[in-house]
Amino acid sequence: MTKLTVLATGGTIAGIAGSAIAKDYRAGEIGIEDYLEKVGGLGLEAELSGRQIANIDSADMGPEVWNALHTAVCEALDDPECAGVVITHGTDTLEETAFLLDLTLPAEKPVVVVGAMRPADAVGYDGLRNFANAVRVASDPDAAGRGVLVVMGDRVFAARDVRKVRTRGTEAFRGFPRESIGLVTPASLEWFGAPWRQGGPASFDWCDKLPEVVIVYAYAGFDAAGVERQVGENTRGIVVAGVGEGNMPESARAALVAQAKRGLPVVRASRADEGLVDREPEDTENGFVAARALNPQKARILLQLLLAGGITDPAAIQKAFDGR
Ligand code: ASP
Repeated sequence: MTKLTVLATGGTIAGIAGSAIAKDYRAGEIGIEDYLEKVGGLGLEAELSGRQIANIDSADMGPEVWNALHTAVCEALDDPECAGVVITHGTDTLEETAFLLDLTLPAEKPVVVVGAMRPADAVGYDGLRNFANAVRVASDPDAAGRGVLVVMGDRVFAARDVRKVRTRGTEAFRGFPRESIGLVTPASLEWFGAPWRQGGPASFDWCDKLPEVVIVYAYAGFDAAGVERQVGENTRGIVVAGVGEGNMPESARAALVAQAKRGLPVVRASRADEGLVDREPEDTENGFVAARALNPQKARILLQLLLAGGITDPAAIQKAFDGR
């Protein structure tokens, strides 16, 4: 039997409402031991050992839990007995954790992040099926070399593409610009294409104190004061959730150019659901970077890792965004 390590962090997949039909519930209530007992009856073809890293709503996910989680994943991957890792996680910030791990883990063994949209005692709980699917993916040697994967709603997504796009229903995730990279059920798995990172080492070293990067959200009427309010003494970089293709009002643009001239990297992303931001001619003069297909929250993580590695030059930062 394939041996997998399950690292639990909480979320709705471990949530409890106290009634099968209640709307309100508490995320991160079921502990890993109880969860493994719950999935024990599914007849999964893998030997699961679990570890509780946290039991939180993923709105509270951040550097402290990320440090513990990264250490635990690395330990599991170093264990020759362990064939892959499944991480249970709340869906709200799942894409950020998955992308951070994708950039900082080697790609030799599958690492799969999974969540659920309905609490564990709700009628139509999607967590059991999602978990069974995640185990199916993590047990497949062909899942290696694709970076960190996210399994939700019978689909497999690459961490860099996945985003939460809905807050209701079980089909809450999409991939952009690539859609899903595979289809999964507890009994079948179909990949669309070959792995792209076979044997690949981690792209970035782990950093347990990520530099502060703020996301400033643009809107009609956004101005220089809106930028300045958010940039503090400790800010090391700025991501703009721009309107349309990473655009912003002139007053805000002037304030951001001033920040870029002070040496704070400024990345233009888009607040649009499927925003793709290419470089524009003025970017070079302004000292700006285009986020390409990364949404603001993922652009922030990539910028943090670059800054942690001492990369502050806009051209070098742009190259890293171009390569994602
Ligand atoms: N608020 C929950 C969380 O992110 C939502 C979920 O898991 O679906 O932890």
